[in-house]
Amino acid sequence: MNGSMPFMKICIHRGAKEIGGSCVQIEACGESILIDAGMPLTGESDSPPIPPTIDFESLNGIVISHPHQDHYGLLPWMPSLPVLMGDAARRILRAAAPFMRKPPLTLDGPSLVDRQTVSLGPFRITPYLVDHSAYDSYALLIEADGKRLFYSGDIRMHGRKRKLIEQLMAIPPVQLDVLLLEGTTLGRASSVAPEPEEAIEDELVGIFRATTGIALVHVSAQNIDRLVSVFRACLKTNRTLVVDLYTAEILAATGNRHIPQSDWNRIALCIPQRQRLQIKKAGLFEALERHSRHRIYPKTIAKNPGGYALIFRELWMADLERANCLDGACLIHSQWDGYLKEDRLRDIDVWRQAHGMPFHQVHTSGHASPDDLKRLVTALKPKTLVPIHSDRPESYRELYSCVTTRSDGEWWRV
Ligand SMILES: [Zn+2]
Repeated sequence: MNGSMPFMKICIHRGAKEIGGSCVQIEACGESILIDAGMPLTGESDSPPIPPTIDFESLNGIVISHPHQDHYGLLPWMPSLPVLMGDAARRILRAAAPFMRKPPLTLDGPSLVDRQTVSLGPFRITPYLVDHSAYDSYALLIEADGKRLFYSGDIRMHGRKRKLIEQLMAIPPVQLDVLLLEGTTLGRASSVAPEPEEAIEDELVGIFRATTGIALVHVSAQNIDRLVSVFRACLKTNRTLVVDLYTAEILAATGNRHIPQSDWNRIALCIPQRQRLQIKKAGLFEALERHSRHRIYPKTIAKNPGGYALIFRELWMADLERANCLDGACLIHSQWDGYLKEDRLRDIDVWRQAHGMPFHQVHTSGHASPDDLKRLVTALKPKTLVPIHSDRPESYRELYSCVTTRSDGEWWRV
């Protein structure tokens, strides 16, 4: 017989004061789960950066909120335990794997489905599908031993799924003991409200119209909202969207027939030389076959470059140059502008300038603005707000009165 008060123990192993590498452990009744097992965004090290404070003894499962490296990247070094994540997220990571130079992932485990509670030991886990730049992203309600914690994951309110957050705020989970809230934009942002994804589509339309040659759009193929914007801009400007096999596979992995697919009209598959080698090496002939209904070659693009927009990555540079596809071309950087400082982006910029291509920055963040975060906390009314995924934890006091800042590796009781 146990007469003690119920409690939950929480530890942010990493992410209490930084963006990226999120890893949280929750313990109740002698068992525990990890919420996210992320790779830090800064500094490549030789040994995997596993937080030393993780208690592996009690661990019985790993929940991954969404398929971004800084939330799942540590999985290859985790013990083989059930991995709970969305089905589409799982398919996306599996589809991406053959194209990446990364250690293999084991991803077997129960599925996260919007608002369907799963049990794991003493934990009841209820995922809420949210708006974020990764497809199939969830916030998580974790209940155990009479305590309730809500983890925002990465979240925004200006993408194509923002209605989901409005629904969450309209009928919020109640009596939350703790809210772990991401705050990526805190202290970083201007006071200007973030542009909605639809405005990005309009900007792309304007640039596509003003460009006589091919429009190269440098964007993550896993930012599905953005691929939709690029495709819709193509439809409005009579361009065909060119994707490579990696992008075609990611689009298919969403399992969503409303998301553009390689066999749709106005979409074409084109394989750069370096990817041809990857296909050979990884034996991806069946996938190539599956996406080849509208296959074209760089020389096709060269005949009418103004008829195309292309999902661009570094590996395209040599092929586009060789086939003379770049007359009148432009380059659109459709990602966080912080990446522009990285070496690989500098190489692309040198190449762009050598070809006299205009540069455009067209992007909206994957993360909620401070104002939107404030609306969310106000709706969720937690007893305590704990910062995570932010490099400005001190700024949370502007959002809410009951803020407790924690340190990486610190265990506390709720
Ligand atoms: Zn994310």
